[in-house]
Amino acid sequence: MDLKQVVDNNLAKTNLGKVANYIPALGKVDPKQLGIAVYDLNKDNITNAGNADVRFAIESISKVIVFLYVAKQLGLSNVTKHVGARQTGFPFNSILNMEIEKAHYPLNPFINAGAIEVTSLIQPYNGKSPFDQIIQFAREICHDPQISLNSEIFESEDRTGDTDRSLAYYLKANNMMHADVTASLTTYFKQCSMMVTAISLANLGAVLANNGIKPWDNKRLVPTEVATYTKSLMTTTGLYNESGTYSSIIGVPTKSGVGGGLMSAAPNRFGIGIFSPPLDNAGNSVAGLAALEEISNELKIDIFQY
Ligand code: GLU
Repeated sequence: MDLKQVVDNNLAKTNLGKVANYIPALGKVDPKQLGIAVYDLNKDNITNAGNADVRFAIESISKVIVFLYVAKQLGLSNVTKHVGARQTGFPFNSILNMEIEKAHYPLNPFINAGAIEVTSLIQPYNGKSPFDQIIQFAREICHDPQISLNSEIFESEDRTGDTDRSLAYYLKANNMMHADVTASLTTYFKQCSMMVTAISLANLGAVLANNGIKPWDNKRLVPTEVATYTKSLMTTTGLYNESGTYSSIIGVPTKSGVGGGLMSAAPNRFGIGIFSPPLDNAGNSVAGLAALEEISNELKIDIFQY
């Protein structure tokens, strides 16, 4: 498929959204960008167009990487007893649903409360800090040794992340944090500030689409059951409060981040990475979702149409 054409068809839609500025360093990103990368598992090749090699902050898509890492480290059942798999009906950084339901665990790992809890579960390994473990795993699963921490974005998140701090202390007050609150928040802000490209995200999507095996060297990185569980979560909770709406339109397990990234895994067929910074009200990339809809229609990858 002609990805350059998809970029041309959708670039103007960057005017319809707003770059995230509640994290001040993210507000400085050039809005008029759209990059797409598609890893085709059957052809074992990756193609890209537009701003596919521009680095941007991974933000919420790191929640997928850390969930995979912790499920690999502890076993899936030891993670799912601490975090659920339900939509909340509230924004990604809301605390309300837990209070209302008197929940004993965050409702899913892709809302901030759930992600912070999952990060707090990381076990010591080889003397490495939790963040060093995460970035090493991110470089491996994204097949991108250049992934690095953007200290300006990290400091900006750390300085302004009071809602995340309140979520973490709420978890602690209710016996749901498994490590020191400050240390876990630092790790969480750092994981969100890792710099990736649409190409790195297509590689991540390809590992999930390939049931946990890295297609570039045929080595297993995560168990099949973990990859399957994660794709299901992406379908039901990957696109914030609009997950249901977009699943019904696009039909491909997808996770977004407020840095403008989208990462999709079309089972056994494609990994897709997209980058375009302006967001809709729910926090999803506007031009990115439009491009993904076009790609889904053209490649016929809607999982509900198999
Ligand atoms: N660092 C962001 C936050 O904690 C991540 C949000 C996102 O991408 O959904 O608010």
